[in-house]
Amino acid sequence: MAEVTESQILAALGDIRAPGQETDIVSMKMVSGLHVRDGHVLFSIEVDPQRGPALEPLRQAAEDAAKAIPGVLSVTAVLTAERPSQAAPRQSAAPPPQARPAPARQKAAVEGVKAIIAVASGKGGVGKSTTAANLALALSVNGHKVGLLDADIYGPSMPRMMGLRGKPTSPDGKSLNPMENFGIKVMSMGFMVEEETPMIWRGPMVQSALMQMLRDVNWGELDVLVVDMPPGTGDAQLTMAQQVPLAGAIIVSTPQDIALLDARKGLNMFRKVDVPVLGIIENMSYFVCPDCGSQHDIFGHGGAKAEAARLGCPFLGEIPLHLAIRETSDSGNPIVMSQPDGPHAQAYRAIAERVWEALSAEETGRAAPRILVQ
Ligand code: ADP
Repeated sequence: MAEVTESQILAALGDIRAPGQETDIVSMKMVSGLHVRDGHVLFSIEVDPQRGPALEPLRQAAEDAAKAIPGVLSVTAVLTAERPSQAAPRQSAAPPPQARPAPARQKAAVEGVKAIIAVASGKGGVGKSTTAANLALALSVNGHKVGLLDADIYGPSMPRMMGLRGKPTSPDGKSLNPMENFGIKVMSMGFMVEEETPMIWRGPMVQSALMQMLRDVNWGELDVLVVDMPPGTGDAQLTMAQQVPLAGAIIVSTPQDIALLDARKGLNMFRKVDVPVLGIIENMSYFVCPDCGSQHDIFGHGGAKAEAARLGCPFLGEIPLHLAIRETSDSGNPIVMSQPDGPHAQAYRAIAERVWEALSAEETGRAAPRILVQ
């Protein structure tokens, strides 16, 4: 069968109108981020955030229209409250879209969630998930309402790190209630599949699973949803960065140069899709010898700080390589909760404070305050 093309999808969507509109959604320039690959279709429909929930039938109609095209295997349509900057519609001679208030970043497409932040890394094994879990908990301990979404579909680690077992329940057969521990709501693909099952997903399946975990989960009212991104800068990350109204991203890096090169790729990816990078966290920054108490800079401590300065991006803080951090996160009782008065919990809380400040600065449009770390 012939490959499905973007113009076929746009032609089908050209029959769809938003409620109360004379003009179709393509001419209204509401369709963006169209992506077609191997019969899998992904696009977003830009809507007024206030009307988001009421426009679910529009999303469904658009999805159905695309699905009806021969050769289309799957369709994921997402309602977004902000037009991605590079997603200029291809239609010419289109009437200008109706004037609407400039969409604010904090008005996430996920109802009730004020801000979504991504925790990312250029490569695996740098402690991104450990950092995401402890950061989410630290934000919660600092007094914010927090959710944690494990978007690492291939290697979900949040059920283990957050000490959660069992499966989320559905109140209505459509949406899922997130799991909860230590006062924060958690969603992970790891709850849906048997442990140890290797996950072999094709790109578009990953994308639609991510969107469902965002959209079809009853997050309730949250100040911030922390998303533990899959490692690297591939398709899944790019889709997240493009489709989810991220208020900001945080890059976790070890001090090694190599890791930093990867971190730079992550940084550039977010910048390309117009997501503000709130800062870099240096993990496994140095090692404190449990016997003699002296500090060892195993990976060349300070690389991330220097790199952050070079890249003009805030440095959020450093976390040492410490056995207690590994043991507590691997056993489902992260250090922010299990040793709340210890130096590591304090370090995570200080980082959480800076993240919150950077986030608030983004939302109010101010420049982020200069961040000084001793
Ligand atoms: P990633 O998400 O980047 O793949 P993880 O968060 O899963 O990395 O961490 C990989 C391993 O390193 C885990 O066993 C974790 O407990 C450990 N780890 C992460 N950060 C630290 C740290 N600061 N000190 C000691 N161990 C750590």
